[in-house]
Amino acid sequence: MTCPRCREGSLFQKPYSLQNAYNMKKSCDVCGQNFEPEPGFYYGAMFISYILTAWLFIIVGLTLAFGLHWSVTQTLIAVAILTILIHNLIFRFSRSLWIHFFVKYNPQALPNNQASK
Ligand SMILES: [Zn+2]
Repeated sequence: MTCPRCREGSLFQKPYSLQNAYNMKKSCDVCGQNFEPEPGFYYGAMFISYILTAWLFIIVGLTLAFGLHWSVTQTLIAVAILTILIHNLIFRFSRSLWIHFFVKYNPQALPNNQASK
């Protein structure tokens, strides 16, 4: 969850709190990379989030239902609670992955070009 260009600056505001859990920085503190290149840029991150959540539901749900022989109700409640607990992590991971698809790593972007030393 760092800047895709310099891999130094954080994508999200720190320290983490529930009030700024979804807030991204406008640009990288280290290299100045714009984190929202166009309006609605992170629309595609929803699909990554959907895929991750669906696989989590399937894997955990099947494990609980068939591996541990939980009832359907118990399994659904457990998966729902798990999803609520980690939804922010999935949100952040999806956005991070999405911007990494489009912005290439460039060590030259570091101030003082630290990577070449
Ligand atoms: Zn950066």
